[in-house]
Amino acid sequence: MSKIYKEIGIGFIPVLLVFLVYQGVNVIPILFIAALGASLFYMMRTRGGMGASAGGGDRKSKHRTPAFLTFDEIGGQDRAKKELMEALDFLIKHEEIKKLGIRPLKGLLLTGPPGTGKTLMAKASAHYTNSVYMAASGSEFVEMYVGVGASRVRDLFKEARARALKEGKDNAIIFIDEIDVIGGQREGGQQREYDQTLNQLLTEMDGIHTNDAPRILIIAATNRKEMLDSALLRPGRFDRHIEVDLPDKKGRLAILHIHAKNKPLAEGVSLDLTAEQTFGFSGAQLEGVLNEAAIYAMREDKLAIEQPHLASAIDKVMMGERTDKETANDEKERVAYHELGHAIIAELVRPGSVSQVTVSPRGKALGYVRHNPPQDHYLYTKDYIEEQIMIALGGAAAEEMIYGGRSTGSRNDFEQSLSMVRNMMDSGLTGLGIIDREMVTKDQLMKENAAILDALMLRTKSMLEQQRSVFEHSFAILMREEVLSGETFRTLFDASVSQSA
Ligand code: ATP
Repeated sequence: MSKIYKEIGIGFIPVLLVFLVYQGVNVIPILFIAALGASLFYMMRTRGGMGASAGGGDRKSKHRTPAFLTFDEIGGQDRAKKELMEALDFLIKHEEIKKLGIRPLKGLLLTGPPGTGKTLMAKASAHYTNSVYMAASGSEFVEMYVGVGASRVRDLFKEARARALKEGKDNAIIFIDEIDVIGGQREGGQQREYDQTLNQLLTEMDGIHTNDAPRILIIAATNRKEMLDSALLRPGRFDRHIEVDLPDKKGRLAILHIHAKNKPLAEGVSLDLTAEQTFGFSGAQLEGVLNEAAIYAMREDKLAIEQPHLASAIDKVMMGERTDKETANDEKERVAYHELGHAIIAELVRPGSVSQVTVSPRGKALGYVRHNPPQDHYLYTKDYIEEQIMIALGGAAAEEMIYGGRSTGSRNDFEQSLSMVRNMMDSGLTGLGIIDREMVTKDQLMKENAAILDALMLRTKSMLEQQRSVFEHSFAILMREEVLSGETFRTLFDASVSQSA
């Protein structure tokens, strides 16, 4: 009926206007007011009625991220993928689950460092379960005005249900990234807006039932699980936690292969070597390495990515872009000796581990040594940590040996050494025995710290003293070339060692 009235109205308006013009009435002000009214009406409609549904308008389209991603397109993370698929089977096999009286799975929490593929996992989950996929980030719910966040949560669930019905799907997956922004521990007081948003999320979760179609599953991600309110983590809410960790070497290789698919690699390029050289990198950083390598290849007018492009890309992702800081020659010499100090100790305690020594400034560093750990480690012995500390102290020890004093260039090395000593103390690997730091005085801690570092510094210096010829052989090349590859360094190292033997 309303359509008929609308059409009559549309036909009537031009007739009325022609009639008024015929009568000699000036219709321009009328037209102007009508246009103003129409645009105001349009704006109110697209905003969902003056903020009454603040999740509407363009925000809605933002949630509609298409999800055409399978678990095969996620490299490594085998354990996390397996756990996730097992949990998702709850959604797929809902009939069996209902028969056994199992409570439906409402929330899944993915935890882990940034860039490890949590968002990818959520998208792949939507594909795996043939669900509608909606995404939002915790920070999107946070507004100055109390109640807006809560209404956005309500809208998100409403839209998920509506889209699933419209697209004829049985399930909808809502992915909330950075859940800690709204799901942090509730403190009351000034936190009212956050509290209301979180309360609304909990209410929506409590309203999910197995029988309801479409079924809704919320996947949330955070890298600060310890910050979350316990109400979110209790059974019936986010009670399945899946850790998405930094990939191991096998995982890194798989990720590199995935992102190399659309990039030409020159013959002989070894992604295995790149995987080895990228210990501690996240999936996002590995994607960055391949992207940067392709950019380096393009800059050199090459048709394919070569191994040196990958090596430079690792440095870029790890340390930042090369800077054009002009260092004075004497400063560059000091940096060269400092870096060689790190490299020589590394080669002595972990043969074959030096991947590259550089004295060109990159990011904040004036020079650096890239290490290539022979194996991924997750458990460290006392000897291993002490060796790591000696590698860190090698730079300062070399400066003392050559110049008779240190510079500010060792600050970062000392920070690393101190953190490793703290780790040793907390793990009961020092003369203090098994302790809680509260049990011992600051004085005792300081004494033990100094004893460990002084002894290791002495050992480091005496090891370097015996390798003076390695310094002599490598220094000139490093100053000239600015980069010394691990292989060249080892050849010089072996030659010097056999000469002095
Ligand atoms: P954040 O915590 O910062 O939101 P995240 O864990 O959600 O990060 P994603 O957004 O899933 O990380 O990953 C970012 C990008 O990194 C992806 O688009 C992809 O290119 C790459 N990536 C990360 N992990 C993987 C992986 N396991 N396999 C393939 N690519 C990956």
